Amino acid sequence: MNYDLVIIGAGPGGIFSCYEACRLDPSLRIAVIEAGSPLEQRKCPIDGVRIKSCINCPTCAIMNGFGGAGAFSDGKYNITNQFGGSLYEYVGKQKAIELMEYVDSINTSHGGEQTRLFSNNNAEIRKKCLENDLHLLDAKVRHLGTDINYIVLQNLFDELKDKADFFFHTRIEEVRQTEAGYQLISSKGEVFEGKQCIISTGRSGSKWMQKICDSLHIRTESNRVDIGVRVELPADVFAHLTDELYESKIVYRTEKFQDMVRTFCMNPRGVVVNENTNGIVTVNGHSYEDPSRYTENTNFALLVSNHFTEPFKDSNEYGESIARLSNMLGGGVIVQRFGDLIRGQRSTKGRIADSFVTPTLNATPGDLSLVIPKRQMDDIIEMIYALDKVAPGTANDDTLLYGVEVKFYNMQVEVDENLETSCKGLFVIGDCSGVTHSLSHASASGVHVARHICEK
Ligand SMILES: Cc1cc2nc3c(=O)[nH]c(=O)nc-3n(C[C@H](O)[C@H](O)[C@H](O)COP(=O)(O)OP(=O)(O)OC[C@H]3O[C@@H](n4cnc5c(N)ncnc54)[C@H](O)[C@@H]3O)c2cc1C
Repeated sequence: MNYDLVIIGAGPGGIFSCYEACRLDPSLRIAVIEAGSPLEQRKCPIDGVRIKSCINCPTCAIMNGFGGAGAFSDGKYNITNQFGGSLYEYVGKQKAIELMEYVDSINTSHGGEQTRLFSNNNAEIRKKCLENDLHLLDAKVRHLGTDINYIVLQNLFDELKDKADFFFHTRIEEVRQTEAGYQLISSKGEVFEGKQCIISTGRSGSKWMQKICDSLHIRTESNRVDIGVRVELPADVFAHLTDELYESKIVYRTEKFQDMVRTFCMNPRGVVVNENTNGIVTVNGHSYEDPSRYTENTNFALLVSNHFTEPFKDSNEYGESIARLSNMLGGGVIVQRFGDLIRGQRSTKGRIADSFVTPTLNATPGDLSLVIPKRQMDDIIEMIYALDKVAPGTANDDTLLYGVEVKFYNMQVEVDENLETSCKGLFVIGDCSGVTHSLSHASASGVHVARHICEK
């Protein structure tokens, strides 16, 4: 199996690098190798009746397969350099935005044409935030919604399947450098040869990526993890912000610890969901574009950024330990009413049932203060009171907090401005590079590298 280009991972990074390489040079022989299933076979076995919680499948249908971790996501493509990754540090600010705009044009020409593009540029809301020491970040956001995102992926696959060879259920174990390029060995012993290789294995492939970097002597660095909770409250509380901006990315520096807390992944009228990363269950959220699937609640994450310094190096292990603690106490995700947290009491089934907010995720009622360290917990509480000033009702007793939400950052792989590693012809893109942590940045990094390879 000999190719000009082998791409590991069929998430947004892998898909868009394949798309752009096929478009620019149709003569290229390209293989896309993916550990998970094709899109239509991606079905999580949790049905709420026979299987109620995660059974740790060998490859997670939510995280792995065509479309990657973003396949069932809210499909929010943020066009900005202010969050979602640091691609601009490699390619320059203007080019990074151009690449994201280009990705947007592909999405809208493959099924997303009717979706809405929001802008965070609202002077009145910005002023109101600033008056309360909250900082609204600048972004345009294309909201595909989980439903349209799926259609766009389907259309992209239909277009690419005859132009490149797709290998599903194929996990690459080893990447070896050879005289002719790269040799990839799968867990079933298949061998793929490629003159050039793009690795785009996302967050779920982070541990594997570290192993590959070690074996190829590529330098890496890891020092950040974000920890927090997912907040769920009546949609009306945030409606004045979400109707206008869809997603408001708000940053706050806490008075007590001077830590940065931010809102993240806001899902108006959405649902809270489980997320499984390497067997650890954390919380996430999404929403649908189709009004018939709206819920009465809005959810978003509140995350505290943790940067570590010497001698500690494994920031992800810190995040995983906290997530494991919640899994140990709650058997998965824990839910607590804000009022219970403030009074120092656990939430119980009865208290959640009496609440005016109906949870959209079946989580275990418990006590998040037994899981989240005091510093991060105090930061989150302070942020909730700060948000209450711009969205009164946020600090209500019945506001639900799900924990833990962990935003793992892949270690930063040392790459140059073309996202090429010290091994020539080996490119690391998307979330597994540490350069990106969003759909738009991951996709844009794929386009950037494909253009560079085709130019070469
Ligand atoms: C529930 C959820 C909601 C999200 N919502 C949003 C959102 O609205 N907006 C946003 O910007 N971001 C969102 N994100 C983040 C976004 O999905 C990621 O940033 C994005 O998918 C990263 O793309 P990627 O191609 O780098 O990696 P991934 O999408 O993670 O894809 C990597 C692929 O590589 C495969 N793989 C891994 N290891 C191997 C191996 N050894 N061999 C072969 N294949 C392998 C995996 O199976 C996977 O399919 C969300 C994430 C989740 C989980």
